Amino acid sequence: MSNNETVTAAADTTLNENEKSKNFIENLIDKDLAEGRYDTVATRFPPEPNGYLHIGHAKSIILNSGLAEKYHGTFNLRFDDTNPTKEKTEFVESIRKDVEWLGAKFDDRLFFASDYFDTMYEKAVLLIKKGLAYVCDLNADEIREYRGTLTEPGKNSPYRDRSVEENLELFENMKNGMYEDGTHVLRAKIDMASPNINMRDPILYRIAHMTHHNTGDKWCIYPMYDFAHPIEDAIEGITHSICTLEFEDHRPLYDWVVNNTDWVHPPRQVEFAKLYLTNVVTGKRYIKKLVEEGVVDGWDDPRLVSIAALRRRGFTPESLRFFVDTVGVSKANSSVDYAQLEYCIREDLKMKRPRMMAVLDPIKLVIDNYPEGEIEYLDAENNLENPELGSRKIPFGRELYIERDDFMEEPIPKYKRLYPGNEVRLMHAYFVKAVSCEKDENGNVTVVHATYDPETKAGSGFTGRKVKGTIHWVEASSAYRAEVRQYENLIDEEKGVYNEDGTMNINPNSMTIINTAVMEPALKEAKSGDSFQFVRNGFYCVDSKYFKEGKMVFGRIVSMKSSFKLPQK
Ligand code: ATP
Ligand code: MG
Repeated sequence: MSNNETVTAAADTTLNENEKSKNFIENLIDKDLAEGRYDTVATRFPPEPNGYLHIGHAKSIILNSGLAEKYHGTFNLRFDDTNPTKEKTEFVESIRKDVEWLGAKFDDRLFFASDYFDTMYEKAVLLIKKGLAYVCDLNADEIREYRGTLTEPGKNSPYRDRSVEENLELFENMKNGMYEDGTHVLRAKIDMASPNINMRDPILYRIAHMTHHNTGDKWCIYPMYDFAHPIEDAIEGITHSICTLEFEDHRPLYDWVVNNTDWVHPPRQVEFAKLYLTNVVTGKRYIKKLVEEGVVDGWDDPRLVSIAALRRRGFTPESLRFFVDTVGVSKANSSVDYAQLEYCIREDLKMKRPRMMAVLDPIKLVIDNYPEGEIEYLDAENNLENPELGSRKIPFGRELYIERDDFMEEPIPKYKRLYPGNEVRLMHAYFVKAVSCEKDENGNVTVVHATYDPETKAGSGFTGRKVKGTIHWVEASSAYRAEVRQYENLIDEEKGVYNEDGTMNINPNSMTIINTAVMEPALKEAKSGDSFQFVRNGFYCVDSKYFKEGKMVFGRIVSMKSSFKLPQK
């Protein structure tokens, strides 16, 4: 995507639906509807059940289901399970769950391509009868040799001119298991001199004596992707078969297949650019390696960008939809900055989640003039910008915890927080003025002594004087202790994803475990997957993996600040 396109796409999100400029796919759909090529819009998401879905798939799901919704059409989830060597049923459930979680509605429109094997076979027979397909006995090496190169045309197979009858008989024999794997294939009869190598008599069917997870041993011939996919689309009445750019060169073959296999409203293929994120690993091979080497704790490790990982990290479906919207749909490959994804989750959570207090690196604050042993309960708004989230009571007492870096014995210039003689507001509570501090043998501050002014209680309307800083705190006797994990990019930003020798360039600080954190007691009640803003520290989510083990881990979704800004109009 060029910079200009990014700006347009991003600025769109501030406009309402009617004002938005349409993307090139919507323009194409409008044209198709206006010209009567189709009278509806039917899209699909066609994953191969051979791995977990990632952020790139999320883009495709959101794009396809979004178009169906916008044009009041239909959206299908179709498992493209035509290759018996790679697919596993275990992925069917995880993919289905991810698609539902993203909010893409397919209702009962859930399909399996392997249910169409009979129709695919019939369509192959139809092509033979039309003289458009033939059984070829060349082996794989010979087929490659005959295919020619980008600069040289291919040569016709010596089996190309078999009669229709002979082809029908041989193809049936293939189906009936009379031949070994690799001895015969069914090929389209197109043009061995075509400048597009995909059109040089591509293979439609191959022999593979394998058990398929759905059809068992019924078939020993399986269709190739370029033949199967257009037929799957046509069977389901798909209008716009949206795929990624690498299939652009296959479009003439897609059209050839649907135009020669007799459909009333054949589907059309439309390509868009894949979504790539900077400094992120999406390749299955690499993620597998990270899991095996124990760098991450599974395919859903919060530092990865599989949909399961993003969910565990605390991303919401709304934030991912917003992200896809800000990225836009383009015809040119490019990478999107990870900070843009972070921006979207921050924007989504800032109004929706309660703002709680947690101190990650605590030191004690003792308020010398506050009565010993007394605890009072203060009112705290859950989210100052969103009154709908209500309020809660937080305990306050003589001994509190504050962040280590919110106190300096000798303040640096412009430091506005606590230092001897300086007064700050304790969030939701009182003004306190630091008096002195205690230190350990290494000179580290362990306790800060302060006094408070009872007149300055938050919400009391006190206007006597102002302070420059507000800090957060947690009452010591009721503080809840839980593990906190700070995540950084898994890949070193500066050096890129891969080293020259092909190894991955792992950031040694991609996860920091904090065992010292203290939090206000309400957080004890948090449930698996709940998320919160920890004021001044970031957004955090209760890790669902450890919750099951009865241990509370709060993982950082995203920090509070970023220099990233969505480009404005
Ligand atoms: P991967 O190899 O990364 O898992 P894939 O293309 O093999 O991806 P499929 O299950 O074959 O995965 O793809 C399902 C759909 O998702 C296809 O329509 C494909 O075009 C789309 N898709 C895959 N990766 C991306 C991406 N990075 N951005 C947008 N769409 C994608
Ligand atoms: Mg794939």
